[in-house]
Parts: sequence; C-alpha cells; structure tokens
Amino acid sequence: MTTTATAQVLRPGDRGYDEARQVWNAMFDRRPAMIVRCRSARDVAAAVRTARDRGLEVSVRCGGHSAAGFGVTDGGLMIDLTPMGRVRVDPVRRRAAVQGGALLGALDAAAQRHGLATTAGNVSHTGVGGLTLGGGMGWLARRYGLACDNVLSYDLVIADGELLHVDAGSQPDLYWGLKGGGGNFGVVTRFEFALHDTGTSALVVEATFTGAARHAAMRRWRDEHLTAPRQATFTASSGPGTLTLGYVWVGPGSYSPAFVQGGSVTRRPMSYLRLQRREDSSGRHALRRYGRSHYLKSLPDAAVDAFVAAGEHCGAGLQGYGGAIADVPHDATAFGHRDTMFEFGAGTSWTDPASDDTRRAAARAAAALLEPYAGGVYVNSLGAFEDEGPAGVRRAYPPAHLARLTALKDRYDPGNVFHLNQNVTPSKD
Ligand code: FAD
Repeated sequence: MTTTATAQVLRPGDRGYDEARQVWNAMFDRRPAMIVRCRSARDVAAAVRTARDRGLEVSVRCGGHSAAGFGVTDGGLMIDLTPMGRVRVDPVRRRAAVQGGALLGALDAAAQRHGLATTAGNVSHTGVGGLTLGGGMGWLARRYGLACDNVLSYDLVIADGELLHVDAGSQPDLYWGLKGGGGNFGVVTRFEFALHDTGTSALVVEATFTGAARHAAMRRWRDEHLTAPRQATFTASSGPGTLTLGYVWVGPGSYSPAFVQGGSVTRRPMSYLRLQRREDSSGRHALRRYGRSHYLKSLPDAAVDAFVAAGEHCGAGLQGYGGAIADVPHDATAFGHRDTMFEFGAGTSWTDPASDDTRRAAARAAAALLEPYAGGVYVNSLGAFEDEGPAGVRRAYPPAHLARLTALKDRYDPGNVFHLNQNVTPSKD
C-alpha cells in the first residue's frame, strides 16, 4: 500500500478491526477490505490515492454518527480519522485549529479552558467533521451562527490526493461548498474555527404539560420564540400524553418567558460542558436507530396539534432556529435553509432486529403528521431509507444551491470518489 509510515492499516481478522468498523447506528454492519487509521494529512492523501489505484470504494469516518452509516464501506477502504483528534486553541486570537477526526467534546473542552466556545452539537461524541460539513446546529447557533459559519479555513484532501488550503480569499467556491455541502468534495484534515467569549455557564428550563393544556401552552411557546433573546434556544418534546416545552440558555443573564406558566417547571443551572454532555447517554453508540426530520419554516396552529399527536407514535422533538443563523444571506453558503423556524425530528432506538419494521413505522407515522408543514430537511438528519438518497438531497438543498454544488462536484470530484455521503452526484452520472 502506498501509505506513509504513520498510518495503521487494519484488515479483516486483525486485532482492532471489528472495533474500528463499528459506527453509531447498529443497523449498519459493514466490513471494509482495509481500514486506514490516519494520523496526518499525508496519510489521508496516500489513502485516497491507494483507493483510487485499487478501485476501492472510499468511506470517511470521523465521529461515526452518520444515521446512514456512511463512515464505513462494505469491501472498500475506510479512511478512519479518529487518530486525528487534536484541538489547539489560541486564546488571544480566539481561534481553534481542529484536526479532521476530532470529536465535539475535545473542541468544547479545549475552548472552555479559556471561557471560549464555538457552535457545536448537543452530544460530545459526535464528530466535528460530519457535523460541521453539513451545517452544524447547536445551543450557540442563534447567537453565533451554525458551526459552518464559524469556520475560517479548511485543509482539504481532494479526489486526486492533492492537499488544498481553502479560505474565503484563496478558494471562494470550495469555501462556499464546504459550508453545508457535506463530505462531497474531499477529506478535511484541519478546520480553523472562530471562538467566542461565551462564559462557562448554562441553564436548562423545562415545563411539562398534560392533557388539553398542551395545545395552548405550545402556541404561547411558538409565539414567544419569535422575540426570544439569541441566548435562548427553544426546545419541545412530545410523548404519549405529555408535552415538555423549554429553552436552553448559555452564558450570563436571565430570561423569564411566559410560556412556562401552568406547567410543572424545572430549572437546571449547569456548566456549559455539562450541557454539552447531557445527551451523551441517550445518544450513545451501538443501538439500532431510525429517525425522520423536517425543517419547518412556520408552525401554524394545525402543526402544533400535529406535533402533540406525533408524540403518541414516537418521541418527537423541536429545536428553534433563527437569530444569527438567519442573519447569513440565503445564498452565502451551501447550507440553504436559513429561514427555518424549527427543526422537527422523530426518532427511536432499539436492540432487537425483529423490531426494525415496527420501530421504523412508528417514526414514519410521527413524521408524516408534520410532513404538510415541511420546508426542506437538514442534510445531517437524513438517513438511508425510503425517499432519502437523491430525493433527500433535493429536500436538503434548494435548487440553485444544488446546481452550484453539482458544478463544484464536476470540478473537484467528477469521478464521485466521495460518494458515501448524502451525495451530490456529478452531472455525468
Ligand atoms: P461520521 O459518520 O464519521 O461522518 C459522516 C460523514 O461526514 C462521512 O461519511 C463523511 O462523508 C463526512 N465526514 C466526516 N468527517 C469528515 C471529514 N473530516 N472530511 C470530510 N468528510 C467528513 N447535528 C447537528 O447539527 N447538531 C446536533 O446537535 C447533532 N446532534 C447529534 C447527536 C447524535 C447522537 C447524532 C447521532 C447525530 C447528531 N447530529 C447533530 C447529526 C450529525 O451532525 C451527523 O450525524 C454527522 O454526520 C455526524 O458527523 P460524524 O463525523 O460524527 O459522523
């Protein structure tokens, strides 16, 4: 194999092979011909060239959280970035240099040592790589934009093995495409993030409602979302007979929304790092998983009723967008759904393969109730079933965005080497 001395190569039967091929969603049990555990951008470039020389399918794994199991290939070459997990923070310039295999927890921990942070997702074992390349939603996004809005530069290995430095000045087209276009253009070996002075504290407030009170409370919650401070991200979850409405607040200051009145209220102050690990256990690896999502651009009363009803089928949730996410012009990044009001998700997990059909049917039934109000989908919430694949990609990107992404794909990856992702297919395919 044409690799440098630093990468470790695992083949079937090798010690560590079975562990390395596991991804978050246990629905995907795939066996790569080789797993290249990369330690440097040179290792990644060599792995890409090797795959091309040998005609092997390429997969790229960072945190392994892809709902569709895209981090692992069956029979191909898996580029395992997990050894590239280092984060270096410059507290004076407020920058973080993050290797392409880093997990969110490493970024949060390194930045919080200086009271700094940038937008990252809600589970610390998610990969910076996949999350940021698809957009990257988190509790700081309404204040500082999506994770991708905070990336100043990328080091990127493209399909011919060349290493490019991509920033707004040197490669504006790729810079645009990497902000939401997923792993379609190559392997990012290093992200440079802007950091912000967020402080180290957070607060989670939740109010639970039952029975008929749920509908009126949720309408108040929806209306207050429109004028909420950017430090507050509204949340809702619906289950059988209950509705929990709340918000997550990061940093100093306080807020007293009226929607909590009449509910059973909990207020949980915690550190920002604790907030970022709060869902680590419910989001853990190795369960079978299925979910369906929509972006909602508005939440009419009928959609409120549908959300309450969705919880009877399967756990359903909403997370508020707006604020700094919507400040970015619609066509400024490949991520195109800037006018989203809430992301809806219905998700379920289980262990017994015999339950696959019933579990998936429950999540589909919940999501179908909100379908009439859907205006697109978050690319990182797409899976690998039903109308996902090309139809999902068309929901994830507005037509002009998809045309521009296709032109970039034609230029940088016309052979579609990087296709184990929510794929932007080259125009000749
Ligand atoms: P992987 O499976 O390792 O990678 C997914 C794909 O991303 C790869 O196949 C590849 O195409 C690409 N990729 C990854 N790294 C690189 C790289 N360095 N260079 C090039 N391509 C790369 N999303 C949010 O926005 N906010 C959240 O709060 C959030 N919470 C989540 C919680 C859980 C428990 C899970 C499972 C997912 C969550 N997501 C969230 C969705 C998440 O953004 C996607 O699942 C994302 O793909 C995960 O990235 P990863 O690196 O962990 O996954």
